[in-house]
Amino acid sequence: MPSRNFARIVYVPFDQLNSNHGALKHVNKDSDLVLLVESDRMVNPQKYHPQRLFFLVSSARHFAAALRSDGYNVSYVRDATTEQGIRDAMSTYPEATLFAAEQSSYRLQATLGALGASFCPNDFFLTERQSFIEWAQSQKSYLMENFYRRQRLRLNILVDGDKPVGGAWNFDKDNREPLPKQYDFAPYVEHERDELDREVADELGVSMSGTWATTRAGALNQLREFLSQHFENFGRYEDAMSSTNWAVHHSLLSPYINNGLLHPKEVVDAALERFEEGGIPIASCEAFIRQIIGWREYINGMYWHLGESYRENNGLKATRTLLPLYSDPSATQMNCVKSVISDIQERSWVHHIPRLMVLSNLALIAGVNPQEYLEWMRESFIDAFDWVMVPNVIGMGVHADSGLMMTKPYAAGGAYISRMSDYCKGCVFDPKKRSGDTACPFTTLYWDFLDRHAEEFSRNHRMFQQIAGLRRLSDLDEVRARAKTVLQKLEEGTL
Ligand code: FAD
Ligand code: SF4
Repeated sequence: MPSRNFARIVYVPFDQLNSNHGALKHVNKDSDLVLLVESDRMVNPQKYHPQRLFFLVSSARHFAAALRSDGYNVSYVRDATTEQGIRDAMSTYPEATLFAAEQSSYRLQATLGALGASFCPNDFFLTERQSFIEWAQSQKSYLMENFYRRQRLRLNILVDGDKPVGGAWNFDKDNREPLPKQYDFAPYVEHERDELDREVADELGVSMSGTWATTRAGALNQLREFLSQHFENFGRYEDAMSSTNWAVHHSLLSPYINNGLLHPKEVVDAALERFEEGGIPIASCEAFIRQIIGWREYINGMYWHLGESYRENNGLKATRTLLPLYSDPSATQMNCVKSVISDIQERSWVHHIPRLMVLSNLALIAGVNPQEYLEWMRESFIDAFDWVMVPNVIGMGVHADSGLMMTKPYAAGGAYISRMSDYCKGCVFDPKKRSGDTACPFTTLYWDFLDRHAEEFSRNHRMFQQIAGLRRLSDLDEVRARAKTVLQKLEEGTL
């Protein structure tokens, strides 16, 4: 029997861990009960990456403990499913009503709606869902750049009146550099672990590392470290990959912005403040700001605009089952893939370019089923949540939406990876070759992919150059033959 009654059960999901935002902003500490549910379905070590589980659970438990010591009534429960945990609380406190912020996935929003919850807006983003949808409905094509410029003006960021600071909206032409041959990498923060971390790690049976913080203080420390050590060179080497450094100058902030420990506004404010202090090139500042107020907001907006069934798209009719190399780096000799998969196994994270130009590019040109690939990405990455994975994978990564989001597929051969990394130097394959036993699988499959979809791509004016290149190939038959072998070996895990 409950020892007391509550007016409301305030449900807080594991991606809204912030007492200044979401439902907690509206809590009455005296009369409300804050409920967090750790579901068996989520805490499944067979399914999810151990670092991801550790991060999500330990962050939520630290957060619940902080709320308690701040005087909130908190119930942190473990149950079979989130729904069951909420139902149990509702039957324990039958007079209490259910309250939450809008959820960040269709599934959870529907679950809470069916339980009779009332909602406050989800303010973990900088753009209201409805306002994005109105923008999207007014567009012929959903160009991120157009949305981003509108965000800069609307939020009054890096603008002087209606003109962009530094004279351009986008400095990408100054970025995209590969790393120099000799390069001193700045160190990364090693986060200290506490008793609660150890308890969670023991319970989940995972080994702890210092890579990811599990508290707001740790997340703020990561933000400070990025701004002091990495911000300056963020833009310049944003697309570079390295076999000797796993994060280059990326911020490593996505897990915390996505689970609520950091709010995007405070990240943007801190970056602008650091920029004002001097020493940060505009190309770096603009690139970082674009990721947060542009890409992140755009992706969330598109998730809600494109609808729940968007995830099922398979416009290129890709049916190949997920390749063994995605879960086992020893299943391939491709140096880039082996290295990226090993990094994911260690930290549950790699930066944007390995996600896009190695992992997704391979899934795209090998014709891997988009839904199988999406599921693998969701299970593997520390920062994966439905709203962010679905458009990034289905739209950007594997072009399964037939160009609804991105006008052309991000398909590339080995030349791109060779230019932006040092992976090819230690590889048994040759990025310049497209046929023969030592041909780079990316290069072979790139041309074979264009060939397989030549008819539909020739209707896309943005693919004109690629298709013209394909038509000029004199060895297309050899490429096709090599592609057959490559695909068979990839399926067997012997390439
Ligand atoms: P930085 O490079 O330092 O960028 C700063 C911030 O910008 C990030 O923390 C993130 O909040 C935001 N950002 C940049 N690009 C994107 C984007 N495309 N979508 C959303 N936010 C963005 N990001 C996730 O947070 N979760 C995912 O599950 C995820 N899946 C992805 C899948 C694919 C196929 C691709 C191509 C990208 C995906 N991204 C995802 C976007 C991006 O790769 C990560 O946000 C970034 O690598 C996180 O590292 P960081 O914090 O160091 O980012
Ligand atoms: Fe990857 Fe091809 Fe370079 Fe090998 S040669 S590292 S497979 S891009």
